[in-house]
Amino acid sequence: MANMLYDALFAPLRGREGAFLILADGSALSGRVFHAMLARAAHALRAAGVKPGDRVAVQVAKSPQALAVYGAAVAAGAVFLPLNTAYTPAEVAYFLGNATPRVFLCDPAREEALTPVAAGQGARLMTLDGTGQGSFAEAMEDQPEEIAAEPRGPEDLAAILYTSGTTGRSKGAMLTHRNLLSNAEVLADLWRFTEDDVLLHALPIFHTHGLFVASNIALLTGGRMIFLPGFDLEAVLRLMPQATAMMGVPTFYTRLLDDPRFTRDLTAGMRLFVSGSAPLLAETHRAFEARTGHRILERYGMTETNMNTSNPYEGERRAGTVGFPLPGVDLRIMAEGAEVAPGEAGVIEVRGPNVFAGYWQMPEKTAEELRPDGWFITGDIGRRDAEGYVQIVGRAKDLVISGGFNIYPVEVEAELDAQPGVLESAVIGLPHPDFGEAVFAVLVPQPGVTLDPQAVLDGLRDRLARFKQPKAAVVVEALPRNAMGKVQKADLRKTYAGWFAG
Ligand code: AMP
Repeated sequence: MANMLYDALFAPLRGREGAFLILADGSALSGRVFHAMLARAAHALRAAGVKPGDRVAVQVAKSPQALAVYGAAVAAGAVFLPLNTAYTPAEVAYFLGNATPRVFLCDPAREEALTPVAAGQGARLMTLDGTGQGSFAEAMEDQPEEIAAEPRGPEDLAAILYTSGTTGRSKGAMLTHRNLLSNAEVLADLWRFTEDDVLLHALPIFHTHGLFVASNIALLTGGRMIFLPGFDLEAVLRLMPQATAMMGVPTFYTRLLDDPRFTRDLTAGMRLFVSGSAPLLAETHRAFEARTGHRILERYGMTETNMNTSNPYEGERRAGTVGFPLPGVDLRIMAEGAEVAPGEAGVIEVRGPNVFAGYWQMPEKTAEELRPDGWFITGDIGRRDAEGYVQIVGRAKDLVISGGFNIYPVEVEAELDAQPGVLESAVIGLPHPDFGEAVFAVLVPQPGVTLDPQAVLDGLRDRLARFKQPKAAVVVEALPRNAMGKVQKADLRKTYAGWFAG
């Protein structure tokens, strides 16, 4: 019997003599060698007691071996559970306690700290480092290089990915074989991926963007990946001439633009740059086109849903928007129980084969966000323009309500960013004795500029209604961001919580 995801993504590697992964040092791994690694890892998981349906948690550096463990978990019929390498032992204890994995892989350097954590949650700890060494690698050594994959159907779980949990505890999004395969198929087709593509892969593989969007598409279409341990500007500049496509978060693109070696010539062999996971400034989009001639293709998705919308491959890639719903994905924008009129903002809901099966062991949370008829309440606020392009206005929880008025931070941020000397900004709501919340701006100056926050605010006078204008602003060197380039507004709200107090 079949294993839906293994058959589509990993089985074809078995007979592939050509390169599949190209590493930073220029060496390459063939499909056959990678598949043999995957098979040995799957046998090692089974030998450690992993049965179909068991969770396999990993908190390891990105490497070919780490990617092979993903394939191995799928082949063994297990549920792959990658964790952000930045999580502390206390955070890991929560994830292991919630997901109760059979096996937990971590870096040997953290073995001592994490051994009691894993033992406390009944997980077997094994190690794997960024060079593919560790007790799990040893357990793989004498295992067979062929594997008969466990039967797994479309509704079976392939992975649990924890949400970043900026409000309350992280929730484990349960993703089925169908969720992952259907999304990879749609995106590969829409973005025209073929076996001739070489994807420059510098994203982490503990997150949906690098693990599923990037890796699954390359696997499905038989292409190659230049597989870097992380975003290293030097390596990316050096290897880009060998690539045809890249997927990144907006900070990848701003960092490339900051370097004069990033030129039209360097990108001449590229056919596609995709951006997502955080909003790409319209200004970055324009600067990128002016420098390289390429228009970045922005798309929108999330852990729970895979990808939902994309700008078109052919046709206008509209800066500041995330394009149209993907084929097979329904999207609606809701306010007060009904769809909003065109152009108005509301909460985005999506439905389709991409939408997850619910939160692991959190039926109440699932019921709050996933309607019985399949619509998922994303918590993102968006609107559609006259041509149907979707624009993300912000997270519902970031909406500022000041004196009874709703203020969408993105609108204010766009105006601030357009002021002279402002590189970027973040707008948040802070507790205020009169207004409930007051609009507050955190500004980052362009290099070499000294910003006067009051002058920036004065510049908004004729641009925005008074209630949307920030009541105060501060200047900082950089905005706090997580590994995926998302601005951590919860941190900013905490830092400046007392600004308007008393
Ligand atoms: P995550 O689950 O970590 O992938 O985060 C998903 C969230 O990232 C979404 O709900 C959006 O708020 C945000 N996001 C993803 N892609 C975009 C985008 N292209 N523009 C703006 N926000 C985005």
